[in-house]
Amino acid sequence: MDVKDAHVIVIGAALVTGITGLLTCQALKKAGIKYTVFEKEQSLNCRSNEWTMAIHWALPLLKEILPEEVFAKMNEIACNPTLGIHSGLYPIIKAETGDLIMGVPYQNGLRVPRSKMRLVASTGIEVQYGKLLTDIAFNETGNGVIATFSDGSLVPATMIIGADGPKSKVREFAMGSAEKAAVTKFPIFHTNMTVCYGDAEKALFVRKQYPTSYLALSEQSFHSFQSISGMPDGPDHPESWVFHMAMAWLGEVDNSVGYKERLAMIKERASGLGEPAHSAFMWLPEDTEVHKADISYWISQVWDNRKGRLTLVGDAAHPMPPYRGQGLNHCINDVWHLSNGLRKALGCDKESTAERLTLAEAVANYEGEMIPRGAEEVRCSVENGYMLHDWKKIQESPVFKRGFKPMDGHGSAAADAGPVAGSSSTGAQSEVEVSEHAHVQLQRDLELAPASEVVSASA
Ligand SMILES: Cc1cc2nc3c(=O)[nH]c(=O)nc-3n(C[C@H](O)[C@H](O)[C@H](O)COP(=O)(O)OP(=O)(O)OC[C@H]3O[C@@H](n4cnc5c(N)ncnc54)[C@H](O)[C@@H]3O)c2cc1C
Repeated sequence: MDVKDAHVIVIGAALVTGITGLLTCQALKKAGIKYTVFEKEQSLNCRSNEWTMAIHWALPLLKEILPEEVFAKMNEIACNPTLGIHSGLYPIIKAETGDLIMGVPYQNGLRVPRSKMRLVASTGIEVQYGKLLTDIAFNETGNGVIATFSDGSLVPATMIIGADGPKSKVREFAMGSAEKAAVTKFPIFHTNMTVCYGDAEKALFVRKQYPTSYLALSEQSFHSFQSISGMPDGPDHPESWVFHMAMAWLGEVDNSVGYKERLAMIKERASGLGEPAHSAFMWLPEDTEVHKADISYWISQVWDNRKGRLTLVGDAAHPMPPYRGQGLNHCINDVWHLSNGLRKALGCDKESTAERLTLAEAVANYEGEMIPRGAEEVRCSVENGYMLHDWKKIQESPVFKRGFKPMDGHGSAAADAGPVAGSSSTGAQSEVEVSEHAHVQLQRDLELAPASEVVSASA
């Protein structure tokens, strides 16, 4: 098939969610492949779905997926824009004392708020909203699909890509039944909230030791997390800084409780913590909207891709607990691999014409790489999720043993793509002009450096 005859349907791309679907569209657009992207939501409450995410090993692939001028915005949307893309050590601390347990090294990465990442990924992409996918039919000739939406509309295309998240509808068709596609709940009460203290002293106090973010692990086997999410009026106006906070503990989720009760549960736990987590949580205003995140997983497995007419990317292909910071990195990796395969199948450019594949071959190649990778990381992230919430086992958890590094072989495309130049890096920063706030972070990274050697050595 030629690129001028192809049309790809992408499912999933809402107002704060749907980053994988949007990145897929960016990659298809760059390749000159016609696409249409459909999203079930009309609009979403940004705050209820807001969290921050670290992009590290897959960043070089993101650079290849996005147009140059769009990727250039990544530094601006960083949680700590004074640093942007940089290398450093992520602090994991003991919640009761604030002491460092270890600094997890990352190379040329950054943390971004989900809403801003989504905004960047949506640049120049037109989304069809209010389109809930309900059915997929496969033409008996062996070519083409027809997607059906809840408003009764039918859309024919060459293939359909499910970027529709953990509870993917497309996965049900891939697996042949809702049961086989069903996620398993990860048994954790995970809360997310966004706060602006509106008070410069408070904001500076909670960021004094660990300037951008930390993960605090409690002897009582729960975690608390805080990250700057944005600096609306800039680094010199800490009263305007916005923070993403999270707290989570293993166990049954009580679905009957609302914001107020969840906040009380959080403060009860925070009352026994040391600084900075103690004040960061105890200062949460009483009207804070404490959102519950459903954490679930599905171990990627082979499905029927109908000769390359259907496939999955992102959380639709490998939903996992987030405590090793891998989900979005794998989403980016998926988009890069799949779009390169489609270029070869559709003869999008000279090089790909030389290695021409059929659509079935391109999708089989993509899934041959992605499914084992997804399955391995989902298993690892599940194990990590349990261990990080069991004080006796934290030192044995994958994030302590392996850091944020992908499993062996998973990041080879990103490694081949080469590093993305950051604005600064540990060890080489003394020459770089940076703001006071960035300077504190960089100093802190240097102090943490010895603690990272354990991870570097074992990773
Ligand atoms: C608290 C938390 C912290 C995290 N931190 C990190 C991190 O530090 N690093 C990292 O790499 N990853 C992290 N992750 C994981 C990361 O957020 C996800 O992997 C990523 O956002 C998944 O994006 P997605 O587009 O694949 O799925 P989603 O964001 O779920 O998007 C799916 C879209 O499909 C739409 N949709 C669903 N069904 C249909 C349908 N039938 N018809 C039409 N549209 C439909 C949905 O409305 C939605 O917009 C974290 C996750 C959590 C929960």
